[in-house]
Amino acid sequence: MLDARFFHRWMTAAAAAVDREAGRLTELDAAIGDADHGSNLQRGFTAVAAVLEQDAPDTPGAVLTLAGRRLISTVGGASGPLYGTLLRRTGKALGDAAEVTPAQLAEALDAGVAAVAQLGGAKAGDKTMLDALLPAAEALRESFAAARAAALQGALDTVPLLACKGRASYLGERSIGHQDPGATSSALLVATLAETAAG
Ligand code: ADP
Ligand code: MG
Ligand code: MG
Repeated sequence: MLDARFFHRWMTAAAAAVDREAGRLTELDAAIGDADHGSNLQRGFTAVAAVLEQDAPDTPGAVLTLAGRRLISTVGGASGPLYGTLLRRTGKALGDAAEVTPAQLAEALDAGVAAVAQLGGAKAGDKTMLDALLPAAEALRESFAAARAAALQGALDTVPLLACKGRASYLGERSIGHQDPGATSSALLVATLAETAAG
């Protein structure tokens, strides 16, 4: 069973991973965007870790909704509202249970990913974070490790795609041949989830 502490540890691990990988995320965004993805997420997840430190909610749902609200209020770029919506909607779907099963998390994550698709109007293959999140949510039904592998593969598979949403879409054909920054950060977030589950 996964409790509030598990989700708090996941968010703390995510903040550390984003800190470590910020340079690489910004480099990817420099190629097909505006070179701020790493710093956007660094600002957002630093604020998430800080608010959870201050006020540790006692249910998984409340941890994720608080984290999501914090991302929305601190990240100006497209990724703030999108990741904020992902966490808020996933948290809302978990309800007020004190503990949830991995299967319940997989189902809740589906709702979160669907909300991202609705907000951003993107679908699979549009070269966005959804290309990592959709396969990860699907594979989470099997295991955390499978979700991690699926997200990583999804991010790598964005390289040959033509960007259809967000800033990268302004480049048209020139977006081809670059890995999507948001799919890359999504793979990072799913990797930290798997690491948290592995203990
Ligand atoms: P901005 O583009 O505003 O500078 P970021 O650089 O932080 O924001 O985030 C860019 C990432 O956001 C992209 O790599 C992509 O994965 C994701 N993204 C952008 N627009 C959308 C959208 N409409 N739907 C889903 N993801 C999107
Ligand atoms: Mg950017
Ligand atoms: Mg920007």
